[in-house]
Amino acid sequence: MGKYQDFYRKSIDQPDEFWAEQAKLIDWHRPFDQVLDYSRPPFTRWFVGGLTNLCHNAVDRHLKDRPEQNALVYISTETGQQQSYTYRELHAETSRFAAVLRAQGVEKGDRVIIYMPMIPEAVFAMLACARLGAIHSVVFGGFASASLATRIDDAQPRLLITADAGMRGGKIIPYKHLVDEALRLSSHPPQKVLIVNRGLDKEMAITTERDLDYASLREQHRDDRVDPVWLESSEPSYILYTSGTTGKPKGVQRDTGGHAVSLAASMRHIYAGQPGETMFTTSDIGWVVGHSYIVYGPLINGMTTILYEGLPIRPDPAIWWKIVEENKVSVMFSSPTAIRVLKKQPPEFLHKHDVSSLRNLYLAGEPLDEPTARWIADALKVNIIDNYWQTETGWPILSSVPGIEDTPRKFGSPSFQVYGFNLKLLHESTGQEVGVNEKGVLVAVPPLPPGCLSTVWGDDTRFVNTYFSTFETEMVYSTFDWATRDEDGYYFILGRTDDVINVAGHRLGTREIEEAIQAHPNIAEVAVVGIHDELKGQAVMAFAVAKDASRTSTPESAAQMEKEVMATVDKELGAIARPAKVHFVSALPKTRSGKLLRRSMQALAEGREPGDLTTLDDPASLELVRNVIAQWR
Ligand code: ATP
Ligand code: MG
Repeated sequence: MGKYQDFYRKSIDQPDEFWAEQAKLIDWHRPFDQVLDYSRPPFTRWFVGGLTNLCHNAVDRHLKDRPEQNALVYISTETGQQQSYTYRELHAETSRFAAVLRAQGVEKGDRVIIYMPMIPEAVFAMLACARLGAIHSVVFGGFASASLATRIDDAQPRLLITADAGMRGGKIIPYKHLVDEALRLSSHPPQKVLIVNRGLDKEMAITTERDLDYASLREQHRDDRVDPVWLESSEPSYILYTSGTTGKPKGVQRDTGGHAVSLAASMRHIYAGQPGETMFTTSDIGWVVGHSYIVYGPLINGMTTILYEGLPIRPDPAIWWKIVEENKVSVMFSSPTAIRVLKKQPPEFLHKHDVSSLRNLYLAGEPLDEPTARWIADALKVNIIDNYWQTETGWPILSSVPGIEDTPRKFGSPSFQVYGFNLKLLHESTGQEVGVNEKGVLVAVPPLPPGCLSTVWGDDTRFVNTYFSTFETEMVYSTFDWATRDEDGYYFILGRTDDVINVAGHRLGTREIEEAIQAHPNIAEVAVVGIHDELKGQAVMAFAVAKDASRTSTPESAAQMEKEVMATVDKELGAIARPAKVHFVSALPKTRSGKLLRRSMQALAEGREPGDLTTLDDPASLELVRNVIAQWR
């Protein structure tokens, strides 16, 4: 493991030289004077004085070498549309979009909210904002009006971009209608709403004066020329709100130069994608994975990126592999949640297509349990690379780095600390570093590397207080996740710091118990929470989805399965971690981004109300939990 170790050491010991080298991966309109200004800890300013532009780096820069190569391939299994854009066409569309925005008075520093389905115009809109130096804030299209209104009030946009509607599972979902409602709820509504009308919602209401039709403005500004606006490296490129798994979402502010450099470097070293190749990221542009690895990363790297509008199991569960085959995808990025969805489907769908073009499948967003990782690795015969990161960091903190060295992977571990991150595991109360295989809070010693959040939008105090004030002993960035590190330097994420269950003085990570339960062959998915217990402080309660639901359909069979699950935990972890109760449900409540909402399940189990549900994906799943709890009581 020598090669990566040297690379990593250099990033920590000689950060200026290391990052100056990486900065060559992007174009600078004016070179920077200083690699890092860290005169006001924990705030960082990377590549001080350098002028650059994200859109230039993602689009214009490639016009010389690869104008006719596909930049964006849009595939919709919802509408049946498929449309490719070469770099030349992407440049033209992005410029037109920027011209339309400019004509509406959008300038450098203005905020623009993008609330859109997964259509090419959403990507044009993001790039167009970047071109003008306007700050985009993409709000995931599945959010309801209230969530959108909160984000509008925080970002205070000059303009909002939306579509008449999206489609999900064949059903039309009105977007504009939700926007109208959000604007009524908002105390800082934007002056203008720009609408990409797909002709899906025939009943869409229009407010003249405020609502603008993109198609007609695009025609008006067809041939306008819009040059990229050069930004100083630390000027903001975007705001993105975190998933809200643990409470009120935080507005993560990203810079420009550090962001571009971190993505360009990660595309090479971590995702190991070559210019000219195709990348398929199954996320949504509303999440950080979509920002970094559907839009900016692959384009900065001169790759073709796939924008997929649709479900993973429609028209059938082989759709992703069909896309891989037809587009010769070599780098794919998805999430453990999505793979667990596929795991519930008949296995033959995994073998219908030739996926030999695929080198690596990256999975991030939640813990990747060993059975799921093995299952997909065996089925596809590709490398499965677990990578761990956060909206805040913008790119991986833990990963193997196959672009530098092909190190062995261990199931259940996202491998090592990524170059640029100086990580420690600290004891939650003493703040001292823990030993090998001991549980600690995962923290990063600042300065954080390029690409990480510059601050919380409009609230420097919240930035410092939230992220850098966990320990009195040392000012470190807290990830709020538990982890261990083994003797070979591999990290294992155990769950969030507020997801710990304390059974009779034993502190158990939700993740370790969930992993143990998942060792049972009939468990597809599981969430455990700690509930108040007179005797032990807390007891473990599990909510599980069975692969074969017929084995839990009667009270007798469910009781039998529960026994088996308990025995599995006894064997894997010990009786101390054994759930006091295992409830079987057909779905688990998750955030829109696919993360388990343990805090809501816990509240229901303890007879409280579930709390902030603005990021809940499927309300029916929470009702299932409510019902099983009611029956159990
Ligand atoms: P909020 O901060 O608003 O509560 P969130 O933390 O869910 O929301 P994200 O930034 O989308 O918002 O998610 C980052 C978190 O996801 C990490 O802190 C970690 O808990 C989890 N995570 C991401 N990748 C992995 C992974 N590979 N393994 C384990 N956990 C992961
Ligand atoms: Mg978080």
